Amino acid sequence: MKNRYDQSEAQQYINRYPEIPEDVALRVYTSRIIGKEADLVLHGGGNTSVKTEIKNILGESVEAIFIKGSGWDLSVIEPQGFPALDLNYLRKLRVLEELSDEEMVNQFRTHLLDASSPNPSIETLVHAFLPYKFIDHSHADAIVALTNQEKADEHIQKALGDKAAILPFIMPGFPLAQKTAELFEKNPHVECIILKNHGIFTFGDDAQSAYDNMIKYVTMAEDYLAEAAKQVEPVERVEIVPPDPAVIMPILRGALNRGLEEEGDGFYLQLRDDAAIREVFDRVDAVELLVSGVLTPDHVIRTKNLPVFLDFSWCDTEETIRNEIETALGEYSKAYETYFTTQVEGKGVSRTMLDTMPRVFMVRGLGLITAGRSMKDVRIAADIAEHTISTKVQGSCIGSYAPLADESIFDMEYWSLEQVKLGTRKMAHLQSKVALVTGGGGAIAVGIGRQLLKAGACVVLTDVDQERLQRVEQGLAAEFGSDRLAALHMDVTNELSVENAFRQTATLFGGVDVVVPNAGLAHVAKLADLVDEDFQRVTAVNMFGVFKVIKGAEPLLRRQNTGGDIIVNSSKNVFSPGASFGAYSASKAGAHQLGKIAALEMAEIGVRVNMINADAIFDAGEVSSGLWDVVGPDRMRSRNLDPEGLKEYYRQRNLLKSTVTADHVGNAVVFFAAGFTPTTGATLPVDGGVPDAFPR
Ligand SMILES: [Zn+2]
Repeated sequence: MKNRYDQSEAQQYINRYPEIPEDVALRVYTSRIIGKEADLVLHGGGNTSVKTEIKNILGESVEAIFIKGSGWDLSVIEPQGFPALDLNYLRKLRVLEELSDEEMVNQFRTHLLDASSPNPSIETLVHAFLPYKFIDHSHADAIVALTNQEKADEHIQKALGDKAAILPFIMPGFPLAQKTAELFEKNPHVECIILKNHGIFTFGDDAQSAYDNMIKYVTMAEDYLAEAAKQVEPVERVEIVPPDPAVIMPILRGALNRGLEEEGDGFYLQLRDDAAIREVFDRVDAVELLVSGVLTPDHVIRTKNLPVFLDFSWCDTEETIRNEIETALGEYSKAYETYFTTQVEGKGVSRTMLDTMPRVFMVRGLGLITAGRSMKDVRIAADIAEHTISTKVQGSCIGSYAPLADESIFDMEYWSLEQVKLGTRKMAHLQSKVALVTGGGGAIAVGIGRQLLKAGACVVLTDVDQERLQRVEQGLAAEFGSDRLAALHMDVTNELSVENAFRQTATLFGGVDVVVPNAGLAHVAKLADLVDEDFQRVTAVNMFGVFKVIKGAEPLLRRQNTGGDIIVNSSKNVFSPGASFGAYSASKAGAHQLGKIAALEMAEIGVRVNMINADAIFDAGEVSSGLWDVVGPDRMRSRNLDPEGLKEYYRQRNLLKSTVTADHVGNAVVFFAAGFTPTTGATLPVDGGVPDAFPR
């Protein structure tokens, strides 16, 4: 592992934070270089501290410990991410026989030096009881590859030498702090402490030496594993035809979400199909190698203890795939319940069981699929699973994997202090939904995308025009972040292109629940002047495009079998057509009719199909409407108006004197997609009230 310590960078940190003690500035620096190394810490894992003297408000010197605050990520930590505590007081706690987790947190909060600090790490007392000034703690992959072994002690000694002390697994908190301190007192010459099935502590009198020790010992472990890997014979692999993610992901997501969707709850999925991952899954010994417990118990709240391994190579129909998935989930769920009941009864405690569904799926020939209630959870589970896979492969070169016992896993999974990290979820109306909007580069897509994102959905925007598409995507990403947003190329007139975009959507989010055919073209010409090519071009997008998108969405919706919504962005022209607008009005009327047919046909799979008839929408902020770029000049000419005048003309002609916006259309989409009313085959005008266009 590369040692990233750099004197001039360290100095920059001291210069950057002149108002805090130099020790703390350096603490921020080495914490960040540890945090940036994914093989050391992942997603909030690991913690670091420094002990230093500060002056209180009376000018008295106080010995303080600055320790990583809960919820902070080492890679981006700031000085305020290190709450300071009264070190002398914390040291006194050593005399206690026991200290409950709740009381420990209370002791921390009441001995903070700044009342507004975040909660100090749950491993604070381990840091406080050790005498060193700088202490670094990580869950390094290479270290747990050594510790999670049947002959762990032997491997650790061989790899790390006699200046590494070893502790068995002990729950973080007061007991771990006591044991670590005792171990250190017995072996004061040690340079690091290895915690089995957990990680490593290194220390030093300055920031650099603690960090150097971390890198030194992790590198020793890496070298030991690499050397062993050289001696290992290559493993036999199976060859299979890769299963289609557009089939697997929606069936899996539907099976996970069935029953949850009524409460507006559900899972997203994502596929990682890198060659390196797939290669491991192709090993003949993949199940034996990978279906075992987590590397370190704090992963259990992100990934559950066990993954599910799926092999569809014998499945020749979608039905058999569905059976395979449902059987696997059923068995997993039953095993989880047994684990829970056994632990609760064995420990004589009362707990509320968490959901029984797996988070990590390993699909032979396809890749790693992770599940979560938010895309952040999905990503965290995937990162952890990826590191777990490679660590287990490395460990297999030295011996047999030895996971932590269920008793300890349960303590961590149902530990109040860990559950807090998951937070409480605020449910938005479309939380857990995936929406796909065609015509994603246009003005109306801005409003639809914004309202869908605001309502909690993941949104896929599609378009043929990549430039316009990216502009809309960037605008929405600035407002909502890019976690729940994707922009894909889709030509709605091309069946393969449509299919491909739905496949990618399934890969990115697990499936689709809300489909908004919104792509449209305009053309101004009287019938007498309308040439076939123009008519066909407009029809290909406005009518055939809607047909192809509905047809492309149907298999995913059917596979999920959890209902869904198709919301056609139609037009007020359907009921109130305009002269010189034949191609547009006729194709839109055709699409409108297709929507009604889809409502008739898809009700049996619980899919609602509704239409929105909006009046003219000129733009959404910076993004102009492609349609009005075409139509506007003609309308202005025929009415002798400038752009502002034209907007005013449209406003004045509706009953409510409203300016219709893209966000209004977005609100209508959210209304249907949220399923507030059992409505299908309906048309909702969004036009301020235009009597000519009343649906009939
Ligand atoms: Zn730890």
